[in-house]
Amino acid sequence: MEFKIIQQAVCCDSKSACCEQELPVAVIGAGPIGLAAAVHLKERGVSFFVLEKGEVSANVRSWEHVTLFSPWQYNIDEAGKRLLSYTDWQEPDGEKIPTGKELVESYLLPLSEVLAPNIYTNHEVISITRDGIDRMKSTNRSSQPFLLYVETPNGLKEMKAKAVIDATGTWGNPNPVKSNGVWLRTEKELASIIDYHIPNIEASKNLYANKRIAVIGGGHSAINSLLNLVALKEKYPNTSITWILRKKRVEDAFGGGSNDELAARGELGVRISDFVRDGYINVITPFLIKRIHKQNGVVLESQHNKLEPFDRLIVNTGNRPNYEINRALRFEREAITEAVSAIAPLIDPNEHSCGSVPAHGEKELRQPEPNFYIVGSKSYGRAPTFLMATGYEQVRSVVAYLAGDKEAAENVQLQLPETGVCHSGAGGCC
Ligand SMILES: Cc1cc2nc3c(=O)[nH]c(=O)nc-3n(C[C@H](O)[C@H](O)[C@H](O)COP(=O)(O)OP(=O)(O)OC[C@H]3O[C@@H](n4cnc5c(N)ncnc54)[C@H](O)[C@@H]3O)c2cc1C
Repeated sequence: MEFKIIQQAVCCDSKSACCEQELPVAVIGAGPIGLAAAVHLKERGVSFFVLEKGEVSANVRSWEHVTLFSPWQYNIDEAGKRLLSYTDWQEPDGEKIPTGKELVESYLLPLSEVLAPNIYTNHEVISITRDGIDRMKSTNRSSQPFLLYVETPNGLKEMKAKAVIDATGTWGNPNPVKSNGVWLRTEKELASIIDYHIPNIEASKNLYANKRIAVIGGGHSAINSLLNLVALKEKYPNTSITWILRKKRVEDAFGGGSNDELAARGELGVRISDFVRDGYINVITPFLIKRIHKQNGVVLESQHNKLEPFDRLIVNTGNRPNYEINRALRFEREAITEAVSAIAPLIDPNEHSCGSVPAHGEKELRQPEPNFYIVGSKSYGRAPTFLMATGYEQVRSVVAYLAGDKEAAENVQLQLPETGVCHSGAGGCC
């Protein structure tokens, strides 16, 4: 069977100065969604390059020891599957749930190998602009190609593109420990005794075994960290685990349990509630952290209380998008979540907890800057419920549009599993 190629559409009119048809599309980030964008571009015969600041899927590799909650059937992009079917790739069992490592080794790496000539690793985008004009200039704006400034091992590089798909994620930009979301120097100075991701506790147990550890946060990352600590405590019983949350009741962090349409996600909450009940974990909630400082360990203070010092903190308070690279472009983000404006009302955790989102694509992701798109987990801003399946549909639609296939771009379809704890605010989701 031959790989299907749909011809590339002309991107700018013949009167314009640029006529940049020959320029490629730039994809920033070689995570699951950036790679999916690249595959769709390849399938449609649109030239492209991918810029990745680390190695392929660097962010997923940083949590490779974590087991996902969605089974393979939700984690593989359809175009990726089509492309890999021309290789000796073995498709994983759709019902099984991979670890981050398996996601990389059994899907993302094979995909990147097929795309390899067009992927530049160790290429960090530091800014995107229009060639020769800044954000203020409107005349002939869309006829100027994009210009990307890229830090490479050989110095600064300038690369031109006719369109840009920003799939840089949010995992690289964690929120701080303070409950008001402000990063202060006092916290930065304690970086050597704070983890901001889900640490591989088994691999570096000397940092945690028989120590006083506090986990801060109420989401899936915090629960993953706690479960790993409980496993350690079974071997090193003097490990003290404290869970600090802002929620009124710890039960609100347990999720939908057996009502969750992703069984593994529901199970996280069930397991942690058992360990809380059995006294493995000391819960302090609500506790709004106001101050952090070092004194026989790390001391956390709220307005009226001060906790005994901890040897180490695991801060899983969510992540935020980094818009620095976008500042020379015209883009919009919503005020609460910092998500792409049109999808923000659908995913704001103040209003929605279902974990699902209506189908959306190019139209909703369109920015004031023509041919510039923010996709993947970055499109969700600070909202925590992003799933790969959402991103795969986003980039399918965006690439269809860039290739001139407006019908395919508008025909968006998405069915996501819900968390089983749907509540609705003003614009409730279900
Ligand atoms: C622990 C954990 C478990 C998860 N489990 C699931 C699950 O079970 N199912 C599910 O559907 N989703 C899950 N997710 C959510 C989500 O699908 C993943 O976070 C996914 O990796 C997001 O993909 P992405 O491509 O948008 O971003 P990322 O995977 O974060 O990729 C972004 C890439 O961009 C690169 N980059 C960043 N800045 C630059 C720059 N300036 N220049 C060049 N490159 C840059 C990064 O190095 C990275 O490789 C999970 C997330 C986490 C953290």
